[in-house]
Amino acid sequence: MSGTKISEDLFARARAVVPGGVNSPVRAFGAVGGTPRFMESGEGPYIVDADGNRYVDLVCSWGPMILGHRHPAVVEALTEALSRGTSFGTATPGEVELAEEIVSRAPIEMVRLVNSGTEATMSAVRLARGFTGRSRVVKFAGCYHGHVDALLASAGSGVVTFGLPDTPGVTGAAAADTIVLPYNSPEEVTEAFREYGDQIACVITEACPANMGVVPPLPGFNALLRELCTAHGALLIMDEVLTGFRVSAAGWYGIDPVEADLMTFGKVMGGGLPTAAFGGRMEVMSRLAPEGPVYQAGTLSGNPLACAAGLATLRGCDEEVYDKVDAAALIIGRAASDALAAAGVPHRLQRAGNLFSIFFTADSVTDFTGARSQDTEAYRAFFHAMLDQGVYLPPSAYEAWFLSAAHDEEAVTRVVEALPAAAKATAAASASA
Ligand SMILES: *Cc1c(COP(=O)(O)O)cnc(C)c1O
Repeated sequence: MSGTKISEDLFARARAVVPGGVNSPVRAFGAVGGTPRFMESGEGPYIVDADGNRYVDLVCSWGPMILGHRHPAVVEALTEALSRGTSFGTATPGEVELAEEIVSRAPIEMVRLVNSGTEATMSAVRLARGFTGRSRVVKFAGCYHGHVDALLASAGSGVVTFGLPDTPGVTGAAAADTIVLPYNSPEEVTEAFREYGDQIACVITEACPANMGVVPPLPGFNALLRELCTAHGALLIMDEVLTGFRVSAAGWYGIDPVEADLMTFGKVMGGGLPTAAFGGRMEVMSRLAPEGPVYQAGTLSGNPLACAAGLATLRGCDEEVYDKVDAAALIIGRAASDALAAAGVPHRLQRAGNLFSIFFTADSVTDFTGARSQDTEAYRAFFHAMLDQGVYLPPSAYEAWFLSAAHDEEAVTRVVEALPAAAKATAAASASA
């Protein structure tokens, strides 16, 4: 390690001009402490910070870099697109190709491109409300759908907790129509529909939650949501911003094929550039402007550079890529769990395809209450011990670990070899706490 002096200086400068020194909160290392590393470059499975420290990257930009950093096909597609211009504010050929690629992989007929996952979920909820003429939205505690006002409401406990805003700036009115339920509880969602079925516009859920750590739906849970929505005339929105095109060619749908009325995508489909999408069957999507009355728009939507990077990434995601990501995830997940077990650290390894996370608790985690019962201090020690050995983990205990097809034997071995010392440091920190 060559120290962190330059990152420290950059962080001090950043804090003077950017709130918290970062443009997205988790980057500030608030949950793990210490100086956030300012990254300057990446290559394959590695990222390099401003002080010249090189890390095996297990964040992969929170998912998008499924082919690894600077994949030649993506660099070539971007270079080619750049040579023709960066934005026209018109329809372009690339966005048709990207839309066709998405529609060919996911069970939807039409798609609209936007600039972020937040925009995708916000627009999908608006469309569901416009389509059904109803106001209420059901969401689950611990599922993250971006920073949409109506979806930044979490839960207390009990049946049908009406949304109380999680953050100043979201008014009671914006969250009042949000019904927040505990995840993975068939009883509570059935009860909510019994009570409010004719007022519910949609249920929005992460197809497989991975923003409270990885908490897969219990068998039949997504199918139950489908049944209830159909029975009560509500729409089902599957948020695949994180899982889409990552856990399989068709995302979580490829693993647990429950059809939604609307789906949202982001992360992988932009290949590291800001683009996202929402889509569904024609009957619903054609209610959007300019075909229908539900307004939605974007100056940079379908941006040619973003479409080029996204298309090159999706086209690069063949079966071999998923096999490689799956294999790397299998090895690293198992090695982490083995190392923690050997050091006597209570933990749970939870997987969803090639996504996994480790909860520092002895109990299986099926909802947000369970996720929050973990020992986040243990994660802090584990994170820093890995960082010191050149492995960049998510700087929060509530995130999935992300692999790429570029995580070859050398990169995987570096992670595996760092784990025992990190597990021992974690045990020592827990013992002294
Ligand atoms: C990342 C994420 C979002 C938000 O996407 P942004 O591009 O960060 O706005 C929404 N839903 C899920 C499931 C996500 O993981």
